[in-house]
Amino acid sequence: MVDKLMRKFLVPANKPVDLSERSTNETLGWDKDSAKGELAKVIGQMAFHQHRLMAEASQSLLIILQGRDASGKDGLVRHVMTGMNPAGVHVVSFKVPAGVEKQHDYLWRCHAALPARGEVGVWNRSHYEDILVPRVKKLVPEETWRARYRHVRDFEQMLVDEGTTIVKFYLHVSHEVQRERLQKRIDNPESSWKHDPSDLSDRAIWPDYEEAYEDVLRETSRPHAPWYVIPADVKWVRDLAVAKIVLNSLQEMDPQLPSPKDDLRGITVV
Ligand code: AMP
Ligand code: MG
Repeated sequence: MVDKLMRKFLVPANKPVDLSERSTNETLGWDKDSAKGELAKVIGQMAFHQHRLMAEASQSLLIILQGRDASGKDGLVRHVMTGMNPAGVHVVSFKVPAGVEKQHDYLWRCHAALPARGEVGVWNRSHYEDILVPRVKKLVPEETWRARYRHVRDFEQMLVDEGTTIVKFYLHVSHEVQRERLQKRIDNPESSWKHDPSDLSDRAIWPDYEEAYEDVLRETSRPHAPWYVIPADVKWVRDLAVAKIVLNSLQEMDPQLPSPKDDLRGITVV
């Protein structure tokens, strides 16, 4: 079942990507009530493997979340990633580079934010912002952002070679659902603080971002660090689809408990 799901959402390496052909709102034959129970079950299984990952302390898992404003990156962290032991989960939200970050190459802050051995890293935005934003806002010459596809592929390959498993999700939300969510956010006093003028200016250049994302997905989805395009208009579909794929990654990593530090036979604690 998860194989079918993964094949459906996977971005094949080097193939043109047309986001308009990818659904934002399918429900995969699931229904909301049973999806809730299923998600709880999947999160429980994730926690089981994460416990072993921490104990083993040799591999790490990096989960990258990209998507437009209000595509649900924060919600996903809240609903899915919090099911794991927080002691072994490192969530990082990347903002516009500031201060010392601007004094270094763009991968500097990313490298420092990586999960340590035994940890799960969750990146809410990532080094992909350093391709998308400079391109769309014309902040650097084309050759500069274009070279970053290669840097990023090589960077991710190096991480994989050194023991990190990488899985990347593009949360695919429609233009209309983004409008509804941004409006709701503005209208609700509990969430209006989240509104940022850049949400609207980015929305105004929606097709530019669409094109930039399509190129990023094509150029950087590779078997060692695959992208999945997840329908994100329906929150419970988004959560369950991502959780199942993350669980699959953990199962493939198959972390093991270390052997006891002692011969345990005959030990009695007094
Ligand atoms: P949010 O995720 O809504 O808190 O907003 C973070 C903002 O920071 C978004 O508008 C991102 O596009 C922006 N951002 C994150 N990383 C970068 C980057 N490397 N370069 C430019 N903008 C970035
Ligand atoms: Mg924003």
